[in-house]
Amino acid sequence: MEAGEFELIDKIRRQAGQGAELQLGIGDDCSAINVPPGHSLLTSTDLLLEGVHFRLDWTDLVSLGNKTVAVNVSDIAAMGARPLCLYLGLGLPLSFSDRQVEQFLAGFFASLEDYDIFLAGGDTCRSNGPLMLAVTVQGLCPEGQLVTRAGAVVGDDLWVSGTLGDSALALGCLLEGSPLPAPLADRHFRPIARVKLGQRLAAEHLATAMLDLSDGLSGDLRHLLLSSGVGARVVLSQLPLSEEFRQALSGDRTLIDLALSGGEDYELLFTARTGSRARIEALATELPISLQRIGEITSGSELCLLDAAGQSYQPRRQAFDHFDRSRSHQP
Ligand SMILES: [Mg+2]
Repeated sequence: MEAGEFELIDKIRRQAGQGAELQLGIGDDCSAINVPPGHSLLTSTDLLLEGVHFRLDWTDLVSLGNKTVAVNVSDIAAMGARPLCLYLGLGLPLSFSDRQVEQFLAGFFASLEDYDIFLAGGDTCRSNGPLMLAVTVQGLCPEGQLVTRAGAVVGDDLWVSGTLGDSALALGCLLEGSPLPAPLADRHFRPIARVKLGQRLAAEHLATAMLDLSDGLSGDLRHLLLSSGVGARVVLSQLPLSEEFRQALSGDRTLIDLALSGGEDYELLFTARTGSRARIEALATELPISLQRIGEITSGSELCLLDAAGQSYQPRRQAFDHFDRSRSHQP
């Protein structure tokens, strides 16, 4: 990297963006955010490491910039809140060129604009090792609208947005060196956080519990069940699958396990009262987004997967045990 750190920080500061809540941005010892009355400030952090969470020989840097923003914003969406700002810690390999830094930042700032959020601070340094991206995201939630993982009750419907397994299937193609259909590549390299959906489900008090799917449906659902102290029944034939995924599935039935545990879907999984079905379906049409009922909340603590014959299903295929599985999503 040829440019000095001050030059880089200046470049970042010029693109950082603005927000009504930003009292003081990049350039002082701290930033200062004004939290509007009656709101909670939400914070979540995420660490992305080259070779652990992404590979630079697979992803282009613009897409990596996009994804760095989206996966963090997704956590705010999962609480039913509005994303506000990001903080970016950037450890740049010594071998990184100015052009590479620019490409990453181009993708990063384009996504900040897409989600209408600003950069409130951060830090940069040279890294003797791999590229390191440490991101903190903050969001605002009006009082009484926060949707946690703990609100599901017995009898609630279980819903999921979008389609499942596409990102994991893309990763499978990459690992095997087989052709990667463009829609699957998009899902893997350029995920979209379901911000509008999360906010509407919260504002209209439709979701009783919610989280975003980063580690795979079955694993993430277990987090929700544990938090809520309930069990669930999921019907495999109800899982929403893309055209590309169905095509692959017709050649290998065990791929269904990627929709169950593949990870990096960044869709919203939520529970809702059965009486909310018509309003949720109307919301799906309005946004528009695909929302699918995949099961229900039960008593106990078990997650029961049912196949087409109504029999209990045991996943046969382990999800790809790839570098991405070590992701941690703790706040
Ligand atoms: Mg999450």
